[in-house]
Amino acid sequence: MNIGLLRNLFREKKLSLSHPRLVIYQELSNALSPLSPLEIYQTLLKKKKKIGLTSIYRSLELFESLGLAFKITNGPNVKYKLCELENHHHHIVCKACGNVVELNFCDISNWSKKVTESTGYQVVDHQLNFYGFCKSCKPLQTQSGSR
Ligand SMILES: [Zn+2]
Ligand SMILES: [Zn+2]
Ligand SMILES: [Zn+2]
Repeated sequence: MNIGLLRNLFREKKLSLSHPRLVIYQELSNALSPLSPLEIYQTLLKKKKKIGLTSIYRSLELFESLGLAFKITNGPNVKYKLCELENHHHHIVCKACGNVVELNFCDISNWSKKVTESTGYQVVDHQLNFYGFCKSCKPLQTQSGSR
């Protein structure tokens, strides 16, 4: 999303789009692949923009909670990627190269119904990530059937 839209969104949510947040957002939007907080810190440092690592972590968490960014967790490592889709959506992450593709469909209505039936909870939201191997990483012999 462009900076104008970002500003509007922050205003709507009554959040301030501080300079560090803006700089971090721009860094993510220029990135060709997902970035870790440390990578963002180092890139900014090279550009003579010193933003504390804690502040980077917090901003990234905020972006994630606003649905602006997707957090890719791989053991102790986390990386972030900006979302292109603005509405509710899911992601699939390649377990080999870490590439992420956004999925513009979501059909879990049967699943939600089952959750309600078994717990009595009214489902209002969900998060769901898919993991697999992208076309360039897919091992050739995966045609074994049962999955
Ligand atoms: Zn996304
Ligand atoms: Zn891959
Ligand atoms: Zn969904």
